[in-house]
Amino acid sequence: RDVVELWSVTKVYGGAGGSPVTALDNVTAGFPEGTFTAVMGPSGSGKSTLMHCAAGLDRPTDGKVIVAGTDLGGLDETALTLLRRERVGFVFQAFNLVSALTAEQNVALPLRLAGRRPEPARARAALAEVGLAERAGHRPSELSGGQQQRVAIARALITRPAVLFADEPTGALDSRTSREVLGLLRRLVDEHRQTVVMVTHDPVAAAYADRLLLLADGRVAGEMSGDLDAEAI
Ligand code: ADP
Ligand code: ADP
Repeated sequence: RDVVELWSVTKVYGGAGGSPVTALDNVTAGFPEGTFTAVMGPSGSGKSTLMHCAAGLDRPTDGKVIVAGTDLGGLDETALTLLRRERVGFVFQAFNLVSALTAEQNVALPLRLAGRRPEPARARAALAEVGLAERAGHRPSELSGGQQQRVAIARALITRPAVLFADEPTGALDSRTSREVLGLLRRLVDEHRQTVVMVTHDPVAAAYADRLLLLADGRVAGEMSGDLDAEAI
C-alpha cells in the first residue's frame, strides 16, 4: 500500500510576466508504507517541488496527489492545513526549533498547535525514542546540531504522521552526527514501519534508504531499490 501517491503530477511556476518553468513534468510515483525513499538529482531537478506537492505544501498545476488515502485536490485550504498538521511530518536542514522553548516543549508544540493536550509524558517518550530523554529541559542552544535534529524528528513524529518528509536533514551536520540522524531514521522505518521520504545530495545518506528515486529536469530519470551502496549511487 502506498502512503503517498503522485499521479501524472506536473508543476509549472510563473507564466504571467516571466517565462514559465516546468519544475515537475508528468511525474508518477508511489511511496509504500514502511519504506525509506531517498530522492536525489541535480540542483533544479524538482526535488523540493516534488516534496512540497507530496506534502500538500504546494498544489500541482496538473495531476493528482493522494496522501494516506485522501486526494489532496479535493481539499480546501483549511482541510489541507489540517491534513498537513495531523498526517504529515517535516524535518528541515536548519532544524527550525523554537529557541525559547525546551526540547520537550518543542516536541509537544504540534499537539498544542492542533489544540490538543500537550501530553508531557508523550513528549518525553518521543524524546526517549530519539535517545534524548535526559535532555528534555534543554533549550536548542544547549544542544549539538545532531541532538537538535533528533529533537526536530521527535517533534515531527509526535502526531504519528503517515509519512515523514526530510529535506536535506543532514545538510548542516558533520559526517558523524549525520550517521546518528540517518541511523535514527532507519530505525524508525525498521521498528515502527514509519514511511520516510528524504531529499539528499549525499550518496552516503541515500544508502540508508531502501529505495532511490532519481530526478532530472522534473522527471523520474531512474529508480534503484534493495541494498543501496553509496559507491554505486
Ligand atoms: P531542486 O529541489 O531539485 O533543486 P526545485 O524543485 O527547487 O529543484 O526547482 C525546480 C525548478 O523549479 C527550478 O528550475 C527552479 O528554479 C524552479 N522553481 C522552484 N520553485 C520556484 C518558484 N517558487 N518560482 C519559480 N520557479 C521555481
Ligand atoms: P503505542 O503506539 O501503543 O504507544 P508503539 O509500539 O507504537 O505503541 O510505540 C512505542 C513507543 O514508541 C511509544 O512511546 C510511542 O510514542 C513511540 N513511537 C511509536 N511510533 C513511533 C514513531 N514512528 N516514531 C517515534 N516514536 C514512535
